[in-house]
Amino acid sequence: MRIRILSSLLLLSAGVCGAQSFVATDTPPGPTSIPKKPVIFDLTSIDKTVDPCVDFYQYACGNWNKNNPIPSDQVRWGRFNELADYNNYLLYSELKAAADAPKTPLQKQYGDYFAACMDTDKVEQLGAKPLQPQLDSIAALRSIRDLPAFNAKQDRRGGGAFFGVAITQDQVDSTQQIAATGQGGITLPDRDYYLNPSARYQKIREQYIDHIKQMFVLIGDTPEQASTEAANAFWIEYELAKGSMDRVELRDPAKRYHIMTVAEVTKLSPDYNWQAYFNDISLPAKTLNVSSPQYVTTVEYELSHGTLTAIKSYLRWHAVHAEAPLLSKSFSEPTFDFFNRTLNGQKEEQPRWKRCTRMTDMALGEAVGQDWVKQNFPGSSKENMEKLVHALEAAMAADLQTLPWMSDTTKVEARKKLDAITDKIGYPDHWKDYSTVVVKRDDLVGNVMSSGAYERKRNLAKFGMPVDPTEWGMTPPPVNAYYNPPQNNINFPAGILQPPFYEATKDAAVNFGGIGVVIGHEMTHGFDDQGSKYDLHGNVRVWWTEDDLAKFHERTECMAKEYDGFQVAPGQNLNGHLTLGENTADNGGIRIAFQALQATLAVPGAASEPLSVNGTFEGYTPAQRFFISFGQIWCQNQTEQSARVLAKTDPHSSGEWRVKGTVQNFEEFGKAFGCKAGQPMMPATGGCRTW
Ligand SMILES: [Zn+2]
Repeated sequence: MRIRILSSLLLLSAGVCGAQSFVATDTPPGPTSIPKKPVIFDLTSIDKTVDPCVDFYQYACGNWNKNNPIPSDQVRWGRFNELADYNNYLLYSELKAAADAPKTPLQKQYGDYFAACMDTDKVEQLGAKPLQPQLDSIAALRSIRDLPAFNAKQDRRGGGAFFGVAITQDQVDSTQQIAATGQGGITLPDRDYYLNPSARYQKIREQYIDHIKQMFVLIGDTPEQASTEAANAFWIEYELAKGSMDRVELRDPAKRYHIMTVAEVTKLSPDYNWQAYFNDISLPAKTLNVSSPQYVTTVEYELSHGTLTAIKSYLRWHAVHAEAPLLSKSFSEPTFDFFNRTLNGQKEEQPRWKRCTRMTDMALGEAVGQDWVKQNFPGSSKENMEKLVHALEAAMAADLQTLPWMSDTTKVEARKKLDAITDKIGYPDHWKDYSTVVVKRDDLVGNVMSSGAYERKRNLAKFGMPVDPTEWGMTPPPVNAYYNPPQNNINFPAGILQPPFYEATKDAAVNFGGIGVVIGHEMTHGFDDQGSKYDLHGNVRVWWTEDDLAKFHERTECMAKEYDGFQVAPGQNLNGHLTLGENTADNGGIRIAFQALQATLAVPGAASEPLSVNGTFEGYTPAQRFFISFGQIWCQNQTEQSARVLAKTDPHSSGEWRVKGTVQNFEEFGKAFGCKAGQPMMPATGGCRTW
């Protein structure tokens, strides 16, 4: 039900699908060892038994992958995770200190939030009790006509049913903030998990239904009642999956834009009183964007054909599932077992301190973040980063001039869009004011609800207000970055501006291969299959000549077909259209980062300083160091199950293909390593190129 926030991330963290479970098995209350700070450009990770022209991923990462098996509490372990783990540990130290001895009101607030999460005795003692108010609200429903009022009340905890409304930027007039409703309501990672007829998915569905049954028994059903309720809940999710747009369709802004009056959307679903819902949440909107009208008619079908009993089963399942991670082990363990272990191959739950750290960051991230950046983000990082961004902008502008396939008319427009990109680095200029979030040291569920209500209110208050371009979509510690199409801006949280991406003392080749490629990646998102549909003001508008658009499609189709051919698990390939935007950004990003490096090295006196083992580069040229630094960002091990889930859900390719796909399309790689045309990393066809 949540509205999709449209932005292009650098990556999704592992295990984003399915439940995050917050109740630990019997782990110690804090870390047993301090995570190591990752290093940049690690020569010991290279597997020199492999020819870089045959398999550059194995060459750059072979030893790292061999020496870094997936920890039992992870499903994917790579350089990103290493840094994220390190950042999370620093954050934990801050939270722990604040929980023990707060020095400021902010520290008191986030320290208490963290402490409440860590209080497992209290969580166990409460059992299913925190869930009871929701179950009572569901039991009190007398007819489906009560659903709008139910949703208005539940929204704040993310527990509304079927329909939700959020305020988003209007894609046609990005100065406006309008109401919008999306699709959702399913629990498995993707619609395909409900619809795919193969034995693998059939088996997952059976295990899923068993899991739902188990949860119904936990909230008091007899086994017979639990079977009926699970069948009801599954039927509703199955129908919703059938009526949902798939992830590739959702990438097209035109397909998810249908402005309707409240009366018009009510015509599509007469059994849901939209006006009553709008009144209940005090939203004065007269129109809204219905991103998926077919989803609305699907829900209407269910409301008019399903019984109230079946709908209540569905609501009960969603209530218990949403709350399970916050409840006692009897709830959280089976949830972990199905969603993490079975679906993703995770062997053990993350220790509670890790999960509570992330949870506190999610709820009060701009409070914790204020102190985190003071400790961990020197002002010089921001300045250095600004210089790198400007170098990348100049390289992209120069590259655009020489782009072989685009007419001058479209080039002028592309340049305007590039010049209009703004950047945000590190952390927000103004921090959110969380003073209305009520935090009690002994009320985990209450704290989560209060934070949810705060975010809900904050979002609804945006209706009709001017857009605030200084707002951030991420807190400071994550190892990530994003481009936001309606705002035409690139955003780099403080968390990523560290090794293995960046280190001020390292040479230009290494830093351009790391954070330089990341910056280029985010800038290129402005011109990928989605970003290219937005103009410099963030409005969906065709700014291309017809002829150039046709050539652009020809080129992106080349890349989609290429990535369709990459396998991530036996019988499971990447989806070239789902990953098209990210692959376009990877391929464009590396090219302009490489060109920015050349421009930097051409400045007299800019020669690289030696670094690394034995104080030498071991004979690697700047170009080779650039590519090795890039390749090593993506070293990773992954469970087969998780690779399968992400192939269906993640718009990013796996680390291996982010490296191999990119270098085989970039002739400078083959030149740098002396490859021969026809070798795997230097295809005789020259590969695919868009930007
Ligand atoms: Zn991206």
